[in-house]
Formats: sequence, structure tokens, C-alpha cells
Amino acid sequence: MFQMSSRINTLLLAALVAASSVRAQTNPLWHEEKVKNFLPHMTWPEVQDLLTRTDMVIIPVASLEEHGPQAPIGTDFLSGVEEAKLIAQKTDVLVAPILLPGISPYHMEFPGTITISHDTAQRVYFEAVQSLIHHGFRRILFVNAHTGNQYLTAYVADRINQETPAIALELHTATQGGQAGGPSTRATPLPFDRHAGVGETSSAMYLIPSLVDLSKAGKNDLTLPDHLNRALPQVNLGDRVASQVFLAEALKPKDTGKHTSTREMTATGVWSERDTREATAGRGRAATDSFVNAAVAFIEKWKAIRPLAPLAERQQR
Ligand SMILES: [Zn+2]
Repeated sequence: MFQMSSRINTLLLAALVAASSVRAQTNPLWHEEKVKNFLPHMTWPEVQDLLTRTDMVIIPVASLEEHGPQAPIGTDFLSGVEEAKLIAQKTDVLVAPILLPGISPYHMEFPGTITISHDTAQRVYFEAVQSLIHHGFRRILFVNAHTGNQYLTAYVADRINQETPAIALELHTATQGGQAGGPSTRATPLPFDRHAGVGETSSAMYLIPSLVDLSKAGKNDLTLPDHLNRALPQVNLGDRVASQVFLAEALKPKDTGKHTSTREMTATGVWSERDTREATAGRGRAATDSFVNAAVAFIEKWKAIRPLAPLAERQQR
């Protein structure tokens, strides 16, 4: 009896040792699945093969910055990459993330935010695009995931258009039919809801659900400079002029003296009048689907208008 149980114990021990050594051979934190057309997951032969089918590459333009107490610092980077992956699954183009941080100086009073200069960022994106052009990519579709990057993205796109054989544009702007730059007037005001608000938190709940903790969300108060506070009702009605001048002045670093850094305008880091607990994954999914579908339709039409040139013409070796 004693002998038998000791043998069973020995066998059990051997099995446990074997199991744990199998586990120890791969990283227990790694849970990513290989995603089609996502450059960091691909091998070079897969990129070479993709180049025979497309010359298009989506580049998310990201940021690393506070997103309130409920959403992660990486919200814009991660969400932009996820949107780009969803588009690429439907229309067979490359997704190439280049940078994590972006233009976020006005969030610097919240710990964790990282900001870089326009000049540094534009150089990195431009030089990365030069590499992609070298390999045969010719159409660059930026997906700007952070409003603070809008002029950076426009500048890099124009540099590409003026200085290289490639063509570049920004997909949110492109899919709005050239009507970017302001909402249209409405009869009933919509409550103000922008950075890390109900809209953005909803998108994060759909795109990166395990990283959003809605139990940390709550009511938000705006502490705007007086003249911006007076303009807010017109902004909420979608008045174009009020919205343009409001957004041009708001979200600027503390040392500009404008009193519009995020921390000066909100204690939580959520630039919204709404209670962020109203965010839902369903709302995020609807917003994401609408952008993804518009982007796919745009890309398909561009492919039809300008068919792919042979790879030999695009790759000079
Ligand atoms: Zn964001």
C-alpha cells in the first residue's frame, strides 16, 4: 500500500514537472493571434506576396496620452491599430504601425502622457514611408487616431505627395467627402463630448475591451475659460464658426497661457459634459462599423479608379 502510493506520487510528480516545463517554454503573457496583413506579425515572403496584390498601406497616426481614469494611455495607438486591422481584413491592404506617441503637449499635466515634437514625428513617419515606397508601396492611407495629430498628418501627407512617387491622404478626411473641419448646425444641442468622453470610451469598449474599466468612469465637469464657456452653447448646436475658433484655442499646453490644457479644463482628464458611465460597446461598434465600411468603400473605389501597377515597375532593385 505504501509502495503503491509512493509510486503514484512519483508518477504524479513526473507529470507535473513535465507539464510545467512545457508551459515554461512559451511566454505565459503572450495571447496574440497572427493577424493577416499586420506588418509586425508578417514574414518578408508574406509582404512580398501582398505586394503583388496591393500597393496600399494604412498607417495609424497614434498617441500615448491620458484618457481619463477609465481608459488606457494607449487608447489612441491601440484603437487606431485595431481599426486599421479591421479595414485591412475586408480589403487586403497592409497595416504598418510606425510610432506610439504623437502630439500631446496639452495632456502633460496627467502622468503617463508622452509627447514628441511635430518635427520629430513628421521625420519618423516620412522616413518610414520612404522605406515602404522602396519596397513597392505607392498609396499611403493615414488613419489619424488623435485630433492633436491632424496638422502633423496633413503635413506628412503633403510631403509624401510633393516629394515622392507615392500618394498619401488621411482616411477620416477622405471618407467625409472633403467636408472635414466642422459639424453642421442642428436644432437641438448635443452635450459636449470629446476627448475620453462617452464617444471615445464607447469605441475603446468595442475595440480594446479588456483595457477599459467603466467602474472608474463617472460625472465630468468642464472648467473652461469664460469666453469659451460662453461659446459652448453655439458649439453644442454645431455652429461652424464657433466650433472652429473654440477648437483652435482649446487643448493647448499650459505654458501658452490660454488656460486650455486638459488639466485646466477638466479634473478627470475627460473633456466632456457627459457622465462617462453612459459609454457602451454597442455604440462603439456602430461608430467603428460606420468608419470601417466607409474606408473600405473608399479604398475599393480608388483601386477601381487606379488599378495596381505591376510590382516590377514599383520595385527597383
Ligand atoms: Zn484619444
